[in-house]
Amino acid sequence: MHSHPLPSYLDPQHPGAWGMYLEQIDRVTPYLGPLSRWVETLKRPKRILIVDVPIELDNGTVAHFEGYRVQHNTSRGPGKGGVRFHQDVTLPEVMALSAWMSVKNAAINLPFGGAKGGIRVDPRTLSRGELERLTRRYTSEIGIIIGPTRDIPAPDVNTNEQIMAWMMDTYSMNEGATATGVVTGKPVALGGSLGRKEATGRGVFTVAQEAALRLGLPLAGARVAVQGLGNVGGVTARLFEQAGAIVVAVQDHAATLYKPAGLGVDALLAHATAQGSVHGFAGAEALPRDDFWRLPCDILIPAALEGQITATNAMHITARLIIEGANGPTTPEADDILAERHVLVVPDVIANAGGVTVSYFEWVQDFSSFFWTEDEINARLVRRMQEAFAAVWETAQTHQVSLRTATFIIACTRMLQARELRGLYP
Ligand code: NAD
Repeated sequence: MHSHPLPSYLDPQHPGAWGMYLEQIDRVTPYLGPLSRWVETLKRPKRILIVDVPIELDNGTVAHFEGYRVQHNTSRGPGKGGVRFHQDVTLPEVMALSAWMSVKNAAINLPFGGAKGGIRVDPRTLSRGELERLTRRYTSEIGIIIGPTRDIPAPDVNTNEQIMAWMMDTYSMNEGATATGVVTGKPVALGGSLGRKEATGRGVFTVAQEAALRLGLPLAGARVAVQGLGNVGGVTARLFEQAGAIVVAVQDHAATLYKPAGLGVDALLAHATAQGSVHGFAGAEALPRDDFWRLPCDILIPAALEGQITATNAMHITARLIIEGANGPTTPEADDILAERHVLVVPDVIANAGGVTVSYFEWVQDFSSFFWTEDEINARLVRRMQEAFAAVWETAQTHQVSLRTATFIIACTRMLQARELRGLYP
């Protein structure tokens, strides 16, 4: 296929998450057969919106923030993906996160494309009122491309169900009709789904069970290290402990803690909620940040940000199994090192898909205005995750590739089949 050179913001040499994603696409292309003629589609987001988000601060001055919404692919359905509030958010990062959402949604076979949004802001510096104004103005600005059948945002790093409620209200006010299906991850009282808050962690734990079973690694007594104790890491750590595993190490933005006898997840989470961090938690050894990657453990769960497991620390990792709760935590170079060292990596695009799976259930429930029980939701979630993991495992065996490339084979095939069937408009 003939194409013009890529514009600078799509630079394949980009060192961050977007470059990582492009490298992952290059690795899967040889397995796509005749569909590889469409692969360029996956290297260019369908639609990118950059918005200025001005708000009045409590002190009367006006501050401007940069916001983004990227719809990477909509061949299989509306865009779907979270919104991140973080001081380091950039356009290429949001592009990569949107692309990973396309892959994830296709891998789980949800009828969605992929999208992602973000604002370059440290929300910890804002009052509640400022945060609400920021969220509402951002929602209004991206309102021209989102909607229940167009693109459906959800929570991500530093966004939560209150922020989803403000987004839903703002969109609804602009539309003149309550549109609960415009975002997922809403409060249950506002059309949210039971089980949504825990869904990503539950999904991470489910694929961990499946992978550990195939490795012959019993979860009871297994030593677990978790980076990031937020929505994803916190729930995952709790489920591991309930299964008899020992959470021996954690790291968040402020501290790294180690306790071989087990940290005690409930007390740790209570401390983190009260103090804003695990820093200062009694009875554990506090270590320098880089030491986290060397600590003795059997299972490692990165559940914070991307680009954490690198060529520098991958050789020190002691775990046999890594389950990617975060999006993009492992660089391609680190992937190669871990493969050589026979460390099994269950990639983000399958491991953390539980959240978007229950988001899909929430969206379906909103459309039908008929709500399911928590048991029903959890059972459907676990079944979907198990089936998706089994398909990925089988594909990896067939082609003798990593679980990441296997997931990309399944997902990219589905996306490009849809592309081919739809044809090019006009
Ligand atoms: P969160 O804001 O609830 O928690 C983030 C955690 O990471 C916090 O404990 C924070 O202290 C920690 N952290 C931040 N910077 C860190 C650093 N430099 N080093 C170590 N720890 C650091 O976010 P979340 O919703 O749990 O998301 C975490 C990851 O999971 C992200 O990559 C996100 O994209 C991904 N994810 C989230 C969901 C979801 O449903 N929330 C779904 C799929 C994937």
